[in-house]
Amino acid sequence: MPLVSLKPVLREAKAKGYAVAAFNPVDYASMKAMVKAAEELKAPVIIQSSAKTIKYYGHKAMIGWMREIADDSPVPVVLHLDHGKDVEMIKKCVEMGWTSVMIDWSDKPFEVNLEQTKKVVDMAAKAGIGVEAEIGEIHGVEDDMIVDAVHFTDPNEAERFCRELDLAAFAAAIGTAHGYYKGEPDVKFDLIGEINRRTNTPMALHGGTGLNDETIQKCIKLGCAKINISTNLKHVFIDSFVDFHQKNKKYEPLHVLGAQYEALKQLFKEKIAQFGGTNRASEVLSKVA
Ligand SMILES: [Zn+2]
Repeated sequence: MPLVSLKPVLREAKAKGYAVAAFNPVDYASMKAMVKAAEELKAPVIIQSSAKTIKYYGHKAMIGWMREIADDSPVPVVLHLDHGKDVEMIKKCVEMGWTSVMIDWSDKPFEVNLEQTKKVVDMAAKAGIGVEAEIGEIHGVEDDMIVDAVHFTDPNEAERFCRELDLAAFAAAIGTAHGYYKGEPDVKFDLIGEINRRTNTPMALHGGTGLNDETIQKCIKLGCAKINISTNLKHVFIDSFVDFHQKNKKYEPLHVLGAQYEALKQLFKEKIAQFGGTNRASEVLSKVA
């Protein structure tokens, strides 16, 4: 079916107590592996393109691939822009057919972030698509930017932000980080709980790679309805390619790509199932139709 908007997908997930997996594709095959994994599990899925991936391929190529893969798929697929910093980039995604965008001006003062996010929410509402926005700063590498300050989200600001904005997803700095964790992550469960109670908006959990299952399940229970996985995917993408070649020593590109595709699909299935998305596609479809 055509790509669907983020908001009803996450409202449904939050109401039913699971999270939708959101993966950052790096090429056509990784997008396809994401949607096929979701189809095999009858689950909704979020494909989220980073700005640097869009810059690499161009909006037109990415939306073309996505439509080719998703239009005839029986599961709900959202095409989302991850960490949109540049308003022109966001605008072009909205015009070209993305069904969700993230505006991330979390490094700006609160009022500036609120005002700019409002403009993006208005633009997205006209196109009938959802918006994710963030306050606080999430630790780690974001595209090519390194965020090394720890700046947790203030629940008072979160409450006001979500009251004034009709968001599909709210991203907060609650102790998770982009990239691999050095040591045990110190996830602030109380803060997640408080933000969730005061915003009543599905929370997007950034930095899902490397969190243990207990942490993931706790976050979902507290209101995280979207879990982002990127670093994991980068590693499987490269390792599966290298490992296959080292074992087989054949210069047959399609064999290497086939092995890589299967390894990625396996990873996506594991994550979708872990977050509780299995067999949820038809309930979601009844809400987006
Ligand atoms: Zn992120």
